[in-house]
Amino acid sequence: MQKGSIRVQTENIFPIIKKFLYSEHDIFLRELISNAVDATQKLKTLSSIGEAKGEIGDLSVVISLDAEAKTLTISDKGVGMTGEEVDKYINQVAFSGAEEFLNKYKGQNENNIIGHFGLGFYSSFMVSDKVEIITRSFRESPAVRWECDGSPEYQLEETTKEQRGTDIVLHINEESQEFLEADRIKAVLNRFCRFLPVPIFFEGEQV
Ligand code: ADP
Ligand code: MG
Repeated sequence: MQKGSIRVQTENIFPIIKKFLYSEHDIFLRELISNAVDATQKLKTLSSIGEAKGEIGDLSVVISLDAEAKTLTISDKGVGMTGEEVDKYINQVAFSGAEEFLNKYKGQNENNIIGHFGLGFYSSFMVSDKVEIITRSFRESPAVRWECDGSPEYQLEETTKEQRGTDIVLHINEESQEFLEADRIKAVLNRFCRFLPVPIFFEGEQV
């Protein structure tokens, strides 16, 4: 007799993300902006209790498009992440999150899944071939660059980044080219970015 536990194939998470969130692709932007806002609010708190030293400066979140590179970037000047934190909060959490997702929603229909599961950062793969995180922590720690093309393999390396905070660079996929259009982004921002505690800028204008 053999005993064991069933291991969920976490490499299947990306096709599942794409399939189940089919009708609500633009939620990725809300997820990424809410992460940027969270990181900024954390910095404010740490600064107010003296844990983050020095001037905190401008804290706006900036969204930018590069039509030539086919990228959409969400930049914040929040707490940032150390390499260890990227490993802990992006790599490990994501893959355990994938297991939870599969276990919980196996066999259910699409509408049940949407709205019951905050996909968070990984929703960016609904619209991207590749995602980069370039981040520098408010703590004394080298900046790092993380890259993943939607397979379970990622790359993490040291890089240089002048400013504290995080840039999330989405390499928009072929089916999602609409998110390289300024009007489309503006429409999403106008829907999602009301009443946020941090100023959000797109194309030089505050949303
Ligand atoms: P959640 O926001 O529900 O925790 P996410 O998948 O959206 O889940 O994000 C996972 C974690 O990655 C966050 O909790 C945070 O620690 C980290 N993270 C994501 N985006 C950023 C960011 N812009 N700046 C700093 N940390 C971030
Ligand atoms: Mg989140």
